[in-house]
Amino acid sequence: MKNYDSLGEIRKDISSGEVNCESLVKGYLERINTHKHLNAFLEVFAAGAVEQAKETDKKIREGKAGKLAGMVIGIKDVLCYKGHKVSASSRMLENFTSLYSATVVERLLKEDAIIIGRLNCDEFAMGSSNETSHFGKVLNPIDNKRSPGGSSGGCVAAVGAGLCLAALGSDTGGSIRQPASFCGVYGLKPTYGRVSRYGLIAYASSFDQVGPIARSIEDIALITEVIAGPDEYDSTVSAAGVPLYSRNLDYKGKAKIGYIEECLESEGLDPEIKKRTEEIITRLRKEGHTVESVSFPYLDFMVPAYYVLTTAEASSNLSRYGGLLYGHRSAAATDTDSAFTKSRSEGFGKEVKRRIMLGTFVLSAGYYDAYYTRGQKVRRLLREKTFEILNRYEFILSPTTPGVAFESGKINDPVAMYLQDIFTVQANLTGIPAISLPMGIHSTGMPFGIQLMGRPMEEEKLLAFSRTITRIG
Ligand code: GLN
Repeated sequence: MKNYDSLGEIRKDISSGEVNCESLVKGYLERINTHKHLNAFLEVFAAGAVEQAKETDKKIREGKAGKLAGMVIGIKDVLCYKGHKVSASSRMLENFTSLYSATVVERLLKEDAIIIGRLNCDEFAMGSSNETSHFGKVLNPIDNKRSPGGSSGGCVAAVGAGLCLAALGSDTGGSIRQPASFCGVYGLKPTYGRVSRYGLIAYASSFDQVGPIARSIEDIALITEVIAGPDEYDSTVSAAGVPLYSRNLDYKGKAKIGYIEECLESEGLDPEIKKRTEEIITRLRKEGHTVESVSFPYLDFMVPAYYVLTTAEASSNLSRYGGLLYGHRSAAATDTDSAFTKSRSEGFGKEVKRRIMLGTFVLSAGYYDAYYTRGQKVRRLLREKTFEILNRYEFILSPTTPGVAFESGKINDPVAMYLQDIFTVQANLTGIPAISLPMGIHSTGMPFGIQLMGRPMEEEKLLAFSRTITRIG
């Protein structure tokens, strides 16, 4: 099978009769088979996908096919798909079957996307390396010794290795963008409230957003336009109409871009990534865009605020898994109390437990004000200061990550791991949209991304300008 980078290419070959959806799905299934070692898929919906492909071929012949006909897509194992298993890569939910589909999944299906399988991730989407999954780590397809990033590691490994054309992931602090950067693909975290979270297994509800991972800006735009928009099942979704992002990818005029001085000067930033970012800034200036440095002396507050607030929300969200109503029930349970403690001890992995305990601590009576309330205040401050920049500039440019994909098993210190999120958490803390664009290859041979953040609900501009950036080379 050919290597496809966008649905447009596939559609061309469908029109000329070179492929049809059925042969395409079979091609992807074969590739999935030869790449099992990556451990990207937790489950392949082979029979269902072939069936869907046949139906789509029929619709195409009849001229009734939807916008996503021909798009073979995988979904992160935190999204519900009716009648299919969903586990959040946790023993807690092993063998749990979705009773309904997430709104985003329904919208994909309505436009005739073909869902090929369920993708591995960090347990309950908590992690930056895809090593906390109960079902084993995922390997980076470019260098198998390295991590694909996390938590949407299975998504990016699958899209990067061409095992599916695109994937839906979730991003609470960088889980779409950081792995996209590590595997050389595109990943968008939409504005908080642009995309429904109904049917997404919650990690930290005021941060979580669903978003696409793909091999082209065009596909990112198309998928976003399909999944975004009001949903009666999620009251946090904006009622604003959804522009046709995929039809408006030409950025007109000159942009005003700010870059955060402290990001580029930060100690931990890899020199080659820094150099490439500076090169892009110079190129953009040459093209007539305004690119200016801005000071944002709050970088050090971001990761701590993020981990105080997300663990608090996680401890509350995950309290429902006690082996009674939901989740794994310990065989050793003898009464209600032991059912809770034993089921939770057995069902959750180490990182999830660490976060539940940390979250419970920051919410506890004696420490609430010192941690949780203060975390909220810091979040508000970060939001105000970020919006001050966005009042002056349309976009904020930065590297997506301080370094390239690290070797699996290398980072054993949780704080060092948390610091991987330094550039990505700002968008989640403040609710703004952010995208990672593959923009360079490091001397190690590994790809890395550039991050562009935009004003809330201005995905249209963000995507159009992203295309401008990728074209300047
Ligand atoms: N790495 C971050 C964390 O571990 C982000 C996770 C995510 O976005 N789901 O919390």
